[in-house]
Amino acid sequence: MIRSGELVAFPTETVYGLGANALDVAAVKKTYAAKGRPVDNPLIVHVYDKAQIYDLASEVNDFAAKVIERLMPAPITIVLPKKDVVSGVVTAGLPSVAVRMPLSDEARRFLKAARVPVSAPSANISGRPSPTTWQRVADDMDGRIAAVLCGAPCQVGIESTVLDLSRDEPIILRPGAVSEQRLSQLLGVPVGILKDPSSKVNSPGVRYKHYAPSVPMVLELDDDYDKLCDFYDKKAAAGLNPVLWARDPARFGQRHAVDMGANDLEAAANLYETMRLLEKQYGFIIACFCWTKNSPYDGSASQGVLDRLMRACGHNVI
Ligand code: AMP
Ligand code: MG
Repeated sequence: MIRSGELVAFPTETVYGLGANALDVAAVKKTYAAKGRPVDNPLIVHVYDKAQIYDLASEVNDFAAKVIERLMPAPITIVLPKKDVVSGVVTAGLPSVAVRMPLSDEARRFLKAARVPVSAPSANISGRPSPTTWQRVADDMDGRIAAVLCGAPCQVGIESTVLDLSRDEPIILRPGAVSEQRLSQLLGVPVGILKDPSSKVNSPGVRYKHYAPSVPMVLELDDDYDKLCDFYDKKAAAGLNPVLWARDPARFGQRHAVDMGANDLEAAANLYETMRLLEKQYGFIIACFCWTKNSPYDGSASQGVLDRLMRACGHNVI
């Protein structure tokens, strides 16, 4: 199907991807139509063999070579200057291409069988939470794509770390399960995270509200029990059918509460699936993610989880 220009969704360790033959411009164009994705949002090209990266990128600097040799396959995407073989339709007109070599066995077998590089954004309707099970792909994409490979739920659960290596200094464009610390250590230079222009707490940036549930959501970052309960009770009294989404939900007694996960890895793995469940069952989501040093959420996925929660609530922190 991929080689004949169809769209096929497939599992990876991060989220399900919506695959097309990256070298077939007509197939790639279908991706944008199926998702309702703005054409200025570039796609990631997926490969199963490191050698394919050198066919797509015109320049692989020392940083890139290190990431390719020492980290990949992993939940990381690197942005490199592109070769002409990569169409501007894939890169949204940019002179660079984003490449990723997934770690999951299912993804690798699929990509190997495809025999071509596969462009793939997340397999959701644009603006919806990314799918981490094939069922959620079907919810969004049934009737719009040729097939979905029904694999296992995604283990990482949030999209890959995007590391830009096309400039002089490496910079993270999107945090994921491969952390800033790990990359700084590997590359021997400090690797920063690009500041989202709307990352200012309490400023709901509509433009950057990418992963939004269909009901209102706020985020609390201190795990302040009284504040959470008080906020919940006010929303309940207003008839808004709220839910607390936090660690150790049993402590909230009679109030509706759902588990955020015992640590950052668990929180990441269940993030989008829970978001989609909550928006169906409740009218207002009060999420709590308290990430301090040595807290249960202090780990490799914490930056990524915080980033997705911030976007989901439109930076509305209480
Ligand atoms: P998605 O697969 O839906 O998570 O979206 C892919 C994301 O990868 C885009 O939204 C960009 O943030 C990033 N990306 C893809 N290609 C490039 C590129 N050439 N330069 C910078 N970022 C890119
Ligand atoms: Mg996406």
